[in-house]
Amino acid sequence: MKEGLNYYPTNAQNFTVDEWLIMLQEDNCFSPILMEAMYALIFEMDGSGSAKQISEITGRSYQNYNRSMAETVKNLRKRRYVFIEDIRKKSKKERYWSHFYNGYYKNNLFIWEVKDNLRIAFIKFISGTEENSFSNINSEKGINSEVDEGTRRYRIHYHIERNSKIVNYSKREFIKKNGSLFCEACNFSFKKTYEIDFIEAHHVLPLYIGKRITKGIDLMMLCANCHRAVHSKKWNDKSIDHFLDYMKNNSIHQNKL
Ligand SMILES: [Zn+2]
Ligand SMILES: [Zn+2]
Repeated sequence: MKEGLNYYPTNAQNFTVDEWLIMLQEDNCFSPILMEAMYALIFEMDGSGSAKQISEITGRSYQNYNRSMAETVKNLRKRRYVFIEDIRKKSKKERYWSHFYNGYYKNNLFIWEVKDNLRIAFIKFISGTEENSFSNINSEKGINSEVDEGTRRYRIHYHIERNSKIVNYSKREFIKKNGSLFCEACNFSFKKTYEIDFIEAHHVLPLYIGKRITKGIDLMMLCANCHRAVHSKKWNDKSIDHFLDYMKNNSIHQNKL
């Protein structure tokens, strides 16, 4: 908490770094949208910002954020983690944000500040190890910091792409809309070629969304080859639009429909 700020009083409890870390490691509990918001706040905005400011970075509408916190608290409660209910007096609604953030008003904006222990746990989680590479980034500028940037980015992709609940949901939605699963970049269909229902889901990192702005979950369907290519050094840091345009303009790469 920053000094001199008038924090909004709540009765949410403060978890330790280790407690947060255990919760972050639970499968399918933390909403990917909340992960993305915390990622944006911590790595892009110094740990605090309004919902609108997060939206500007992620390209997602800010109404998503309240929902993502409610969803996460509910998921964690189902796994028997105790979150003391923080109910607003007048509306009787639960203040879900208070579990993850400290809040205060600044220039008429309500600012969410990732709680200290959660921020530390989140960085550890994203960096993967206890003595994580994150602490080295500030001291070692140059090639290493570039590598670590990429690693961090990759980890958030990875986390979301492995969240089976959200991936399966996206696949079902895709089938509903398009009839079957196929690669959105090259049209390859595992069904047609191998007679199996398979496709990989790629999380389009909001920081790199160009024209292709999706609402809700930013997962696109890619065959294993295209997915590999998208995560390669050549394409990793570029908007997915560059890759899609490239594939469109290089018909040699296209599989026959
Ligand atoms: Zn493909
Ligand atoms: Zn991916």
